[in-house]
Amino acid sequence: MNLSRPQQMTAKFEEKIVHNSKFSQYTFELDEPHRIPFAAGQYVSIKVDERGDRRSYSICSTPDIDHGFELLIDLAPQGLGVKYLESLKFGDTVQILGPMGMFVVPDDPTEENLVFIATGAGIAPIKAMILDQLQVKHDQRPIILYWGLRYERDAFWFLELQELSQSFPNFSFHPVMSRPENADWVLCRGRVTDCLVNHPLPEKTGYYICGNAQMLTDVLTILEQKGVEITHLHHEKFY
Ligand SMILES: Cc1cc2nc3c(=O)[nH]c(=O)nc-3n(C[C@H](O)[C@H](O)[C@H](O)COP(=O)(O)OP(=O)(O)OC[C@H]3O[C@@H](n4cnc5c(N)ncnc54)[C@H](O)[C@@H]3O)c2cc1C
Repeated sequence: MNLSRPQQMTAKFEEKIVHNSKFSQYTFELDEPHRIPFAAGQYVSIKVDERGDRRSYSICSTPDIDHGFELLIDLAPQGLGVKYLESLKFGDTVQILGPMGMFVVPDDPTEENLVFIATGAGIAPIKAMILDQLQVKHDQRPIILYWGLRYERDAFWFLELQELSQSFPNFSFHPVMSRPENADWVLCRGRVTDCLVNHPLPEKTGYYICGNAQMLTDVLTILEQKGVEITHLHHEKFY
């Protein structure tokens, strides 16, 4: 796959969806240049202060909409990056470098199944990849998503992902809650690693994993122990 070289861009802050107290979704419309050629899974680097400090954010929208992009932000860290984004007013211009990163789905026919594993905001690039594979590329391969969150109150996009699994029978979605507060939570409990240990994993599979360093280490250890070749382990570390 040919990936575009990163370039300097400016974009205007257009819209914000506050999903809950932990996650917000930001929409930016490109100013200069007007279009951004990117691959699903890539990220942009945003200048977050006058000193030139930058933070990276994965694009959660799909590449077929190339006149802008959406980001999903975990508000918890409250450092320079999150505070900068929270301070933006509609119409403000942001300085961006992008697209960046190699966390993309390659054209690899040996990957007969795709398994996506995310925790928290790690769903951002993975949502873009899954929507791109299903809706844009019409990928017929079985695609499984495991997405781990802590509490039910952190949840968002569930309805959209459940509807996607109804529209595309080759896609299945497994939300995993590590600390469900509601006794009625009947789906996977625990960590995504617990699901991986318990669920039978298909052979000839490409794994796409995104989240924090500890989760990546744990998941990669399990998959390596199950004999998955390193060439089929694709991952992005957020922190
Ligand atoms: C390639 C890449 C893509 C990324 N994409 C996204 C994205 O799509 N959405 C997103 O929200 N973040 C994403 N991040 C993380 C993001 O770049 C920042 O690290 C994050 O927003 C914290 O920045 P900050 O300046 O607010 O906090 P900082 O001052 O940089 O960090 C404060 C502390 O919080 C820790 N931390 C960072 N992120 C988290 C978190 N999510 N939960 C708990 N602790 C954390 C840091 O390790 C540090 O100890 C991505 C990182 C990388 C490398």
